[in-house]
Amino acid sequence: MPSPAAVDQFPHRHLLGIEGLVPAEITYLLDRADSYVAQNRKVDKKLGLLRGRTQINLFFEASTRTRTSFELAGKRLGADVINMSVEGSSIKKGETLIDTAMTLNAMRPDVLVVRHPESGAVALLAQKVDCAVINGGDGSHEHPTQALLDALTIKRRKGHLDGLVVAICGDILHSRVARSNIQLLGIMGAQIRVVAPPTLLPPAADRLGVEVHHDMREGLAGCDIVMMLRLQSERMHGAFVPSLREYFRFYGLDAEKLAAAKPDALVLHPGPMNRGVEIDTDLADDIDRSAIAEQVEMGVAVRMACLETLAARS
Ligand code: ASP
Repeated sequence: MPSPAAVDQFPHRHLLGIEGLVPAEITYLLDRADSYVAQNRKVDKKLGLLRGRTQINLFFEASTRTRTSFELAGKRLGADVINMSVEGSSIKKGETLIDTAMTLNAMRPDVLVVRHPESGAVALLAQKVDCAVINGGDGSHEHPTQALLDALTIKRRKGHLDGLVVAICGDILHSRVARSNIQLLGIMGAQIRVVAPPTLLPPAADRLGVEVHHDMREGLAGCDIVMMLRLQSERMHGAFVPSLREYFRFYGLDAEKLAAAKPDALVLHPGPMNRGVEIDTDLADDIDRSAIAEQVEMGVAVRMACLETLAARS
């Protein structure tokens, strides 16, 4: 069981987004996660902190990394983990989101990890159940554990988050990863730039508290972190870019554009990557510049911290 001090340090029942968290709460989760990185590198990775607890991963949208990562995280903490995806569910038979939530709730889980294509759906579901809910990504709204794992990756490489210049590049408009990262990095004192064509920016991008750039070399000039985003074609209705070839030419990250950033700038991408569209394939695999594999590793540790913090107290 977490100590009363742990409840004081993260006094929330759910993790629905980064918005509304304060620096100390983010630091608490990142420090807990950091302690799991070494544990995850041991031969015996299993702990019993969530023994007897039930975790249900309820995914209404496709996922490889996030679902597997939450599953591993729960299992490493000793929880019983059940995966439920749309394909095998009664959603196809017309059951509503709320009915599904009520059905699962009656099975008395301790934590639900939910991904849904509609922004706000996870928060709605959280109002209807008795257990903790973690948002695994809702539409283009938030993906809080992705922002936490990005922050842990950056913090372990750079030693801090405050004062860093971070360029978030690509499909900002449809990206929940961008929204959660803008929140988190802003709360933690980083300086944020977004770099995108006008068609891939939200209408009032300048009101997000970020610097807006349309040119990659200008946006990347002197930055510490380059965070690339996937083109979210599944959320696009209509043409947002002229062609993928042209998109790569102007907005794809390659060695030449990266040369505008600091010499030790770190490259991130949440995955899945479209190689040759958002990022040059050699650069993506260059372990001196890219921390993409490390992001995946940090993902398990971050999800362990979130599950332990929320599931152990329900
Ligand atoms: N995996 C991330 C998400 O679920 C990023 C992406 O799909 O592009 O939002």
